[in-house]
Amino acid sequence: MVSPFDRGFLFAHAAYEVTAVYGGRLVDFEGHMSRLDRTLTGIALPNPLGAEGWAKVHRDLIEFNNLTEGLIYLQVTGGAYGMRDFAGPEEFEPTVFLYADTKQLIGETARDGVRAIFLDDMRWKRRDMKTTQLLSQALAYRAAREAGADTAFMVEDGQVTEAASANAWIVDEAGQLITRELSSSILSGITRAGVLALLEGSGLTLVERSFTPEEALAAVEAFTTSAGAMIAPVIAIDGQPIGNGKPGPVTRQLQRLYYQAMGADVAA
Ligand code: PLP
Repeated sequence: MVSPFDRGFLFAHAAYEVTAVYGGRLVDFEGHMSRLDRTLTGIALPNPLGAEGWAKVHRDLIEFNNLTEGLIYLQVTGGAYGMRDFAGPEEFEPTVFLYADTKQLIGETARDGVRAIFLDDMRWKRRDMKTTQLLSQALAYRAAREAGADTAFMVEDGQVTEAASANAWIVDEAGQLITRELSSSILSGITRAGVLALLEGSGLTLVERSFTPEEALAAVEAFTTSAGAMIAPVIAIDGQPIGNGKPGPVTRQLQRLYYQAMGADVAA
């Protein structure tokens, strides 16, 4: 039972994580758990479990659900304390909720790509914390669907911040990878970090900087990274094809490297 007075429900006072499971194994688990710890500290909640405790609940969920490919969702909220009270008690007793979800991570989206729209980034200023304040993103997905697209590239001060629930990347004409540098303007994606780690020795060069919507439209390739969709090619934005409108060779190379690193025997 979760009380309707739970601070997660009333104030979105909650941290969450989504970890990919492939071949029954957790992908980049330590990265997700250290980001959870950072978010919890940022929103004044104690971490209810240690590293070993979290690993065990995740492993148990995988086992109980026979999960081979999918996601584990985890949420830690501020808990419930009688009536609605903005500040809440001195010390919080968090509510913890997890579930396992079967999902094809290397499937149609990875193969065919997604369409995006540009949208004003209306979120609060601490996007580096992974909280359940997701109304902007929920509305962004609805706007994308209405426009016949799948996701949004969000824009602030003339620069793309990130995608609705993923980090945004482009490949310019010189073949350079460009993705926004880490700051409180974007979430520090665990998949983003995983891709960065694979670049050494790949022959690909990276520039960490923000880019404009015009640069995205002029890019030869674009893609997003997230635990839920891994590396998803972006084939069009606002109805305009990116490159030739098909997933490009750099995206494919990164997909192969990423899948290999997590032990998958698949070529996208
Ligand atoms: N940016 C936002 C706003 C997100 O919601 C997400 C994932 O949900 C990401 C980036 C990608 O993060 P990760 O690779 O850790 O899933």
